[in-house]
Amino acid sequence: MKPEMAARRIAHGLGYRFRLHRRDLLGTPDIVFPGRKKVIFVHGCFWDMHSCKTAHVPQSNSDYWRQKLERNRARDAKNLVALQAAGCQSLVLWECELNDPNDIPERIRRFLR
Ligand SMILES: [Zn+2]
Repeated sequence: MKPEMAARRIAHGLGYRFRLHRRDLLGTPDIVFPGRKKVIFVHGCFWDMHSCKTAHVPQSNSDYWRQKLERNRARDAKNLVALQAAGCQSLVLWECELNDPNDIPERIRRFLR
């Protein structure tokens, strides 16, 4: 299952209503909770440069990849800051965390409380 799907399924299972990929919000968050001013991003470990084992810069064309991935990471960070400045709270869930999602429901519940 794709990590976005896993996150949606968990949020849905908790009984929350949400919308997907609101393009009018910075960074096009994966899951948006209207009225709560809260959004969830599901980040890919590779594309968004997570500090985990599955994230690594490819060995061939490594300069190209490093620049590209660093840009992604910088853009993600900028979006989170801008959303927060606009009064919107963000929760970032990583792909690797959703592979073993036991504590994700509790994190989502805490975040939305
Ligand atoms: Zn990861």
